[in-house]
Amino acid sequence: MQFIVFAAFAIVLSVPLDGPPWQTLHSPWWTGIIVVGQVMGAGLIGLAGSASVKRKLERDPAWLPGAQRRLGRWTLVLRFFLINSFIVGMYLTDWSRYVRGVAWMHRIWGLDEMVMLLPFLLSVLAGWIVLYPADRGVRQVSLEHRLWSSQPGRPVWSLGSYLAFMFRHHVLIILAPMVPIVVAIDAVGSDHYGGWLRRVTGVVWADQAVLVVVAGLVFLVAPVFLRFIWQTRSLPAGDLRERLDTMCRRIGLSYRDILIWQSDGMVVNAAVMGLIRPVRYILLSDGLLEMMEDRKIEAVFGHEAGHVKHHHITFYLLFAVLSMLIVGGVSELVVLYWPELVGDRSQLRDYLQVLAMVLIIGIWGIAFGPVSRRFEWQADLFGARSVTPVAGECDRPCLLHGTLAADLANPGRPVRDAAAVCATAAHTFGEALHRIAVLNGIPIEAHSWRHSSIANRMRLLAQYAVDPSAVVRLNRAVVAVKIVLAVGTVVGLAIGAWLYWPTELIRMLRVWRG
Ligand SMILES: [Zn+2]
Ligand SMILES: [Zn+2]
Repeated sequence: MQFIVFAAFAIVLSVPLDGPPWQTLHSPWWTGIIVVGQVMGAGLIGLAGSASVKRKLERDPAWLPGAQRRLGRWTLVLRFFLINSFIVGMYLTDWSRYVRGVAWMHRIWGLDEMVMLLPFLLSVLAGWIVLYPADRGVRQVSLEHRLWSSQPGRPVWSLGSYLAFMFRHHVLIILAPMVPIVVAIDAVGSDHYGGWLRRVTGVVWADQAVLVVVAGLVFLVAPVFLRFIWQTRSLPAGDLRERLDTMCRRIGLSYRDILIWQSDGMVVNAAVMGLIRPVRYILLSDGLLEMMEDRKIEAVFGHEAGHVKHHHITFYLLFAVLSMLIVGGVSELVVLYWPELVGDRSQLRDYLQVLAMVLIIGIWGIAFGPVSRRFEWQADLFGARSVTPVAGECDRPCLLHGTLAADLANPGRPVRDAAAVCATAAHTFGEALHRIAVLNGIPIEAHSWRHSSIANRMRLLAQYAVDPSAVVRLNRAVVAVKIVLAVGTVVGLAIGAWLYWPTELIRMLRVWRG
């Protein structure tokens, strides 16, 4: 969902100042019908989904996974509709021209872009409101199951807290960092301060440099405001806090704070954010803390710690930089070699702006998943390792503790392998994953673009425990990904510097000398 919100922003930013360069539907009626239709359509899809899930729950209330799967499928359909109807509204109608035509709105930086985004945000909201009864129904049944087996549970959240959570978690997390960036883009856009900036500094790319600096700053400080956007509070002192702090000292992990992420107990999850220590937070949801044993919480915490220790966040940043460099490079090639691509030279710029957005979304859509899944598996391994028991407490045939014969020629002789992960620890982590899936109402075989399915992650962990060469292969794949990202970024920056630097630098020096 966050990817879709991000894509919606990219679409808004990709529309040139005077609207899409191609022919659009000029009739205000059609524009109105399509823009309003987005919201109505999302509502109708949500209604159909909600009715379908509730029917399933009434027909066989005992079989929860069926209803959960159905809810998951309708959520996917809704998302597909949300983004595609927004694309139609932005690219095929005069919506952006109408919004930008309002003079006072255009004067306030970023406001016109936010208004353009409004139909999307409203359709997201409409979809959630009508899907809520289905979500509530599924959670209610799951709560009853839990109470039957005398496990703790909280009453299901109200529509208000459901909407507030969804909005904070899926929309605000992208919206809050994007707003300053959109304002900056609008401010340095051709009719605002861009020209002034270029004149004063004498640097043609001064406006681009300002954007990069703003985006970098936003990325760096985002965790500070995200901690307030996602209602959080500091994990109080106590047994658990002490255990987690001890684990961090042992593995050499530093952070600003460990936070409880409040969701009325409805969400069982953990996350880590922040590139550098002063703004690095590790979040554990209230549901996780209430419904999991300490050992499993430690395992989940270890997974988040793994992301930090393996510098995954840094490499996600490189991924973002590299994808922009690739897009810049492709645009440059088009200008150099196919300047007549769309006939009119002045239109080429507008087309390139849209092409850049398509490329960015394409690169992320194709490459981010495989990278992210490998990082997640590596974090899973780290999480499992962080709950490795002492030899006496390991009660499974284990390569790490030397109680499993890996030497097939010599089946009687146990072998120790330091690359291996303890079988008991891998099992504990797998159980924690399974429990998270059950408590969140996610079918364990449900595909996940960023994490791969829970079933797959459990299978991989079991494999790592018996086959250290699989661990070596995973680590090698991650190293390869990191090398590609690092080298690609350096090469891209070098090419960029080589293309633009000398002449600009000389001009800049001349301006400074007076
Ligand atoms: Zn993770
Ligand atoms: Zn063991």
